[in-house]
Amino acid sequence: MLTIGCHLSCSKGYANMAREAASLGGTTFQFFTRNPRGGKAKALDPHDLEAFAALAADAGIERILAHAPYTLNPASSKEQTREFALMTLADDLARMEEATPGQLYNMHPGSHVGQGVEVGIEQIAEALNAVLKPDMTTTLLLETMAGKGSEIGGTFEELAAIIERVNHDEHVGVCLDTCHIWDGGYDIVEDLDGVLEEFDRIIGLDRLRAIHLNDSLNVRASHKDRHARIGEGHIGFEALSAITNHPKLAHLPFYLETPQDELSGYAEEIAALRAAYAPVLS
Ligand code: FE
Ligand code: FE
Ligand code: ZN
Repeated sequence: MLTIGCHLSCSKGYANMAREAASLGGTTFQFFTRNPRGGKAKALDPHDLEAFAALAADAGIERILAHAPYTLNPASSKEQTREFALMTLADDLARMEEATPGQLYNMHPGSHVGQGVEVGIEQIAEALNAVLKPDMTTTLLLETMAGKGSEIGGTFEELAAIIERVNHDEHVGVCLDTCHIWDGGYDIVEDLDGVLEEFDRIIGLDRLRAIHLNDSLNVRASHKDRHARIGEGHIGFEALSAITNHPKLAHLPFYLETPQDELSGYAEEIAALRAAYAPVLS
């Protein structure tokens, strides 16, 4: 069975997200841990979490992916910004342990804002070393980025360099965003096997824990990061379906972050990808 879902709003709580995911044909979902621009997270509600557990079990939802606010920047040149990132990461991870242990937490590595890639990588690793605890059950994922502006994580080498510097790297994985790596220059349309071999050689495929499945409005290596609906961009339905069906990827959870007017748009994409799912697993 294809584990697929989409990004949902967390504003009405966990139980509501499980209900929404199931109504769209999803067996997983992604959500922001708090307002995506930062700010305080809502207090956890034990009744909501109890209802969520029951609804998730009914809907076959075993895996969920929390996403850190995208404004966090542990590689900022400003100490105050780095400290805010640290506080937010620590708070999010503590909430994950309390509310949904054993799940996935995804973050954008950060932008070096002119300090240089080397400094940025050191600062991101430093932040991770401050927040990762040896006994945690959550896996923190670094997202592959499009390399827009001074973003770190636009190449597999940069993500590997961060992970290499993390002490408790057993709690670190990678979330591959198809729009981002396409915009970053990786040819997942003509040479998916080659890209996966490169990922395996540089990061290790065992680190790959989730996929953001998005089409791209732009041509390869544009470094733009503008998502398109599945089949309406330069990657195309066939190439994206080849990703869900790839024997090395088919077991992973997939998340749609495609632009939609209505949630029903996600339901259509989920149904189309499910209909095309028939991986040949050895
Ligand atoms: Fe993201
Ligand atoms: Fe993404
Ligand atoms: Zn993006």
